[in-house]
Amino acid sequence: MLDDDLDILDSKEFCRECFLPLIKGDNWSEGKAKAKNYICDYCFREEKMRQRKANPWKYKLKALRGSLKTRGLPDAEVTEWELREIYEEQRGLCVFCGEWLDPCSSNCHLDHIVPTSAGGLTEKDNIQFLCEKCSYGKWKFSSEEYVRHCQRVAKWYSK
Ligand SMILES: [Zn+2]
Ligand SMILES: [Zn+2]
Repeated sequence: MLDDDLDILDSKEFCRECFLPLIKGDNWSEGKAKAKNYICDYCFREEKMRQRKANPWKYKLKALRGSLKTRGLPDAEVTEWELREIYEEQRGLCVFCGEWLDPCSSNCHLDHIVPTSAGGLTEKDNIQFLCEKCSYGKWKFSSEEYVRHCQRVAKWYSK
């Protein structure tokens, strides 16, 4: 195993994308060297970004399932295709403020219409996409509660 690693280091491997020499621990992480994945860290990030752009919903679902699991909540009963459908039904706009949401950016938040704290499930009918501000503002409240509060804020603050 160790001999193998040294071979890789000595043999001066090159990135399959940009052809720069791969240097373990510098532009070639240990994991990739072990797996003999001949791609530099930079090109690897670019490749991941391209994949994410090609199908952001796959990554959204993965992140969602991870967060449900850490919070001890039931697994998602929604597919990546359904997430895409929800987004398209919203025409890519935040349900509350109408801001356009780039599905690859951190500004595209998945929100439970009926919050999980109130027993809301992670299924198609209970999911909407919100911008970051509306998502944090709504927090654990229902859509009605949040909108009522926004109206109150707008009224009071503009006095
Ligand atoms: Zn490269
Ligand atoms: Zn918004």
